[in-house]
Amino acid sequence: MIYALKYTSHPIERVNQVMYLFLERSIPNGVYSHALFPDWFKEVLALSQAKDGNLSFDDKFRIVFDAIQGLSMQRRIDLFDEFKVGLDIRSICTDTQLPVILTELYSNELHSALNILKDHFYGVALSTNKTIQSQLKTTLLDHYQTFKNTNNSGRVCPFCGLHEYSLLEGESKDDYDHWLYKAKYPIYSVNFSNLVPMCGKCNQTGVKGVADVLYNKTTGLRRRSFYPYDDNAGIDVKVANFNPVSSLPDEEKSKYPYGYFNLAISHNALGESDQVQTWIDVFNIQVRYNSYLSLYYNGLQTEFHEQYLPDHPEIILTNNLEQLRTIVSSFRSQLGNLKRRTGVEIDKAYLDFICKDENSYMLFTFCNIVLTV
Ligand SMILES: [Zn+2]
Repeated sequence: MIYALKYTSHPIERVNQVMYLFLERSIPNGVYSHALFPDWFKEVLALSQAKDGNLSFDDKFRIVFDAIQGLSMQRRIDLFDEFKVGLDIRSICTDTQLPVILTELYSNELHSALNILKDHFYGVALSTNKTIQSQLKTTLLDHYQTFKNTNNSGRVCPFCGLHEYSLLEGESKDDYDHWLYKAKYPIYSVNFSNLVPMCGKCNQTGVKGVADVLYNKTTGLRRRSFYPYDDNAGIDVKVANFNPVSSLPDEEKSKYPYGYFNLAISHNALGESDQVQTWIDVFNIQVRYNSYLSLYYNGLQTEFHEQYLPDHPEIILTNNLEQLRTIVSSFRSQLGNLKRRTGVEIDKAYLDFICKDENSYMLFTFCNIVLTV
């Protein structure tokens, strides 16, 4: 991750009580009733109605209850114990020894009932149910606004660094990503430690979407990942190499008419190397970063000439390499903060690359110096 988000403590977290008490109270043999739920939630279920022949919110809990009762007593206890461990999303992201709750291993009935419940609870009730809002005296929108205000030092999406979060008004709000994705881990779909606003580009199928931060999809093995609200040492970005357009395969030439950069993306802290690898994998970072620089590096040259140099009339560009490097590095140092400017780590990597001895031709081109022989 580019930087850590600040967790927002908020009254809406009381919804976490619902699944907790429901799973705990579903352990003994019994029949479904509203006594399984916290008091404030009983009115929500009492008022829930089936519409157009569909199941009501209450019905969906009842089906999950029946699926739990279909398990042995020991499995019901295991389910609740694993659920409690998994409530601490931070720990299961960083400690691969901790069990992760996979409800399909309990029973397919339970897993699909939880998925139907999740679609209703997270997808509908949390954002629109007026009884939940009046009982909790808050809304999901208020949580989002609090998150934005708590995190207003960063407007760049910390998961990619390439795009910005939406504004509070005049744009549709960013969706919450389920860090443990909700189709596989439906039991955590309304756990606010598992919810994190993310830019629309990152939260797409094919990027984070349904990617699993806990398991490597090739090996099937558990892996460590960042927890979005934990501090981290950030990432190191360098240009590994540049392929001029003449060297590209034909199908790439039209996509990248100015050539193609390969970036080397790594960790700043050795202890985070595996978490950085998970992040690169889950967010498709390698391809996105290569593409970003290959598409936009010319824009940095334009910014240098049209914005930076006019503000610094004392700078005179000559064909002295050392002077050009000094000028470009002072341009680099004012590019800005990675929490507020998109792509800044990639831009800096590019400027470092053109300042290398072997790339002096790129530095001259960047500075619009034409060398005469
Ligand atoms: Zn993003």
